[in-house]
Amino acid sequence: MRTILFHGPSGSGKDTQVELLVEKYGFENIGTGEMFRVMYKEADIESIKAYQYWSKGHFVPNELTYSMFERWIRKFDISKPWAFVSVVRDAGQIPLFDELLKKSERQLDAFVHFTLSEEMAIERMSLRKICPYCDATYHQKYRPESVSGYCDKCGTKLVQREDDQPEKIKLRLREYENTIVPIVEEYKRRGVLIEIDASPSIEEIHKQLITKLGL
Ligand SMILES: [Zn+2]
Repeated sequence: MRTILFHGPSGSGKDTQVELLVEKYGFENIGTGEMFRVMYKEADIESIKAYQYWSKGHFVPNELTYSMFERWIRKFDISKPWAFVSVVRDAGQIPLFDELLKKSERQLDAFVHFTLSEEMAIERMSLRKICPYCDATYHQKYRPESVSGYCDKCGTKLVQREDDQPEKIKLRLREYENTIVPIVEEYKRRGVLIEIDASPSIEEIHKQLITKLGL
């Protein structure tokens, strides 16, 4: 079964792209961001430790993340294609991710990296809102909700994520730049790197993506 790892700075629209693959091609969307939020709501003990980091815009230690991830991954259907989103956030997580895939009897087919300028990333994120109840994401310009300020799926009032405040965006982008280079190099060396320019429209990026993935 197809197994793809997606990465890109916040604001590159990678979550929207993966959602399209879920809707059109039946992918499972597997991400540590959702894992941290959902497991925290469930009051999982390790997730409470992890919250101390991610709530401040810091990275959660690799061992802690992957200890949670091994349990989280069991929720997903092994007969479907898997889309991992931003689960390798530093080079030290590459062997942990390799190990996780091995245990799941899967092989990585592609590492898709979305690229975007810092200015555009900030502009995009400041217009983003999420549903605190079901985690759906909306964007004033690219993916607006039907009734302004309320979730299409469940009607809950939308909020701006704590992570999407300007100071936290800048901190995250800086950390991102520092950590992505060795990751991109490693997957390039393995011959699975696909780079996609994330500045065009959602539809154009989607077209590029399905062409390059051969879907
Ligand atoms: Zn909702």
